[in-house]
Amino acid sequence: MELSIDKILEQAEEELERIEDPDGIRKLQVKYLGRKGLVTQFLRGISNLPADKRPAAGKRANEVKKQLEAGFAAARKRLEDSQEATERLDVSLPGRGVLPGSLHPITQVTREICDIFTRMGFDVVEGPEIETDYYNFEALNIPKDHPARDMQDTFYISENIVLRTHTSPTQPRVMEKQPPPVRMVAPGKVYRCDSDLTHTPMFHQVEGLLVDEGISFGDLKGVLTAFVHQMFDPQTSLRFRPSFFPFTEPSAEVDIRCVICRGKGCRVCSQTGWLEILGSGMVHPAVFENVGYDTSKYTGFAFGMGVERIAMLKYRIDDIRKYFDNDYRFLRQF
Ligand SMILES: [Zn+2]
Repeated sequence: MELSIDKILEQAEEELERIEDPDGIRKLQVKYLGRKGLVTQFLRGISNLPADKRPAAGKRANEVKKQLEAGFAAARKRLEDSQEATERLDVSLPGRGVLPGSLHPITQVTREICDIFTRMGFDVVEGPEIETDYYNFEALNIPKDHPARDMQDTFYISENIVLRTHTSPTQPRVMEKQPPPVRMVAPGKVYRCDSDLTHTPMFHQVEGLLVDEGISFGDLKGVLTAFVHQMFDPQTSLRFRPSFFPFTEPSAEVDIRCVICRGKGCRVCSQTGWLEILGSGMVHPAVFENVGYDTSKYTGFAFGMGVERIAMLKYRIDDIRKYFDNDYRFLRQF
């Protein structure tokens, strides 16, 4: 008897596989589970079996019944789904194109900046965006209560943890781990409480640091001039303007001849003919002392630039927020 209920199941499953319409399923259901169905008849016949065989046969027959009910339900669902899909498919509609992805302009410019310095022998390194007060300020010669802390509107996470306000913490982090020479650029996100036409709370910088024996301000000018000539026009004029940063001495802002008016004076350059593009200077001896470098032997220069600022000038964009609106019409132009 057990063999025969299993045969009924086998046969039913074979037939079910060949079913192609809901009507076929209904017929199968009647054939096996209907009032006169094969499974139903088998169940009725159990009472004629010897008493010791009845429990096992009944148990097996009920299992088969449940299995078939589930099989019919699944087959019905499968047919409904495929029918629905066929009804929805209009083969005359034009296909939906897949938009090709591309790199964000900020990513493109970051890579371009790093490529120029890589070709000059600099390594690319990265540092954490959640930074300690020590690396973001103290190690860079900006002690607590130093007025320079007011220059940067800092997001504090706790008293000693900040969202880094610049990429400069990568300088002490790299120098702590290796002796000179150091040649590195460090791209990344930085954060400040600031938001208007030319400022966003998050923006990108690229930091640069070169330390070796006999490095002079002349090397700084040479490297940054080579950078500007590759990033913009090879004819671009530069101006090194005295400035102040706590971690460099002397310090200089680097201006380039206005790319819009070529020096005649316009709204973008506030009629000065010059555009500020980066900050730089010779590494302050106090920074070297913090990382244990011998200041009688080594000198170096550092620089930092805003990627959005460079990209705005390169692509002549007047509102920094466009970079972060995710407007496809804007982004597709790059
Ligand atoms: Zn101008």
